[in-house]
Amino acid sequence: MAEILVLIDHAEGEVKKVSFELLTLARSLGEASAVWVGPGYEAAADKIAEYGPAKVYVAADAELTQYVAAPTVELLQQLAGNGAAAVLVAATGEGKEIAGRLAVRLDSGVLTDVVGVTPDLVAEHSVFGGSIISHAKVVKGTPVIAVRPNAIALEAAPGAPAVEQVSVALSDAAKGAKITDRVVQEKGERPDLTEASVVVSGGRGVGGAENFKVIEGLADTLGAAVGASRAATDAGWYPHQFQVGQTGKTVSPQLYVAAGISGAIQHRAGMQTSKTIVAINKDPEAPIFELVDFGVVGDLFQIVPQLTEEITKR
Ligand code: FAD
Repeated sequence: MAEILVLIDHAEGEVKKVSFELLTLARSLGEASAVWVGPGYEAAADKIAEYGPAKVYVAADAELTQYVAAPTVELLQQLAGNGAAAVLVAATGEGKEIAGRLAVRLDSGVLTDVVGVTPDLVAEHSVFGGSIISHAKVVKGTPVIAVRPNAIALEAAPGAPAVEQVSVALSDAAKGAKITDRVVQEKGERPDLTEASVVVSGGRGVGGAENFKVIEGLADTLGAAVGASRAATDAGWYPHQFQVGQTGKTVSPQLYVAAGISGAIQHRAGMQTSKTIVAINKDPEAPIFELVDFGVVGDLFQIVPQLTEEITKR
């Protein structure tokens, strides 16, 4: 069976959910092999085994995580050289950087923002800010595919993977950009925006920083992450790290609630692959209503608190 390499996305000792989605996908394409870069594999081993890789390559050398992207690329290049049928990474900022560099090294092709892959490696991906879904296949070499978090339904398949310790002799080029400091953002109680299965976002219609409590109230009732439009983050009402859209984060949750957001193309680019979209907007002509599954025309300051109260009762 063809080997499908999956780069495990992990940080601060926590494996990102997208890694398990990638393993689920890899199993439908061939024999999944997880690739762990850096120290700390032991603590994550059981969780990774739940998603059925046949093998785990562990490159435990801490040096690999001290430089930007390139060491991981060199490691994946070495592993892919053993005849892998494809390499899957998460379509995050870092994942996409690794994917692009790796495809150049492998002299193959890269597909990003992928939301599905067929067994013959045809990728469905979201392009031009999600306004077009296209199907594409890399026709030369080992395809490198960056898959969007939350695009693949998780399916466990517990197993006992073979673990192989691996190492790579880094080139001077790989040591070109050293990480000197990492800013760890406070995690808070809410789920990570890009991984959350429910996201509640507020826009200019929220009207001010203080009013975001209304959005947070609904989010907390649903166990959701909070997002914001650029109008809201630019106004300083909510931190930029929560911006959803073309120049913000891409989310693809089961449920996306947009309150007081008009639905500009740049906002849609970050959320329109959400499974179910609900909008609350007082303007019945707001463009967001063109893509919603459920739309509520009304004042968010009436509707959102009522919704929060109703859900809390259940
Ligand atoms: P508006 O468009 O002003 O819409 C506010 C909405 O709230 C209106 O529809 C109004 O009817 C409704 N409303 C007002 N009061 C209430 C109320 N009380 N109850 C209910 N509804 C109410 N935008 C992003 O979001 N993310 C991006 O990443 C992004 N990147 C961009 C990149 C570029 C290069 C450019 C040029 C723009 C980008 N933008 C982005 C900005 C984008 O074009 C829009 O300006 C922005 O999305 C508008 O935000 P909004 O919907 O919150 O505000």
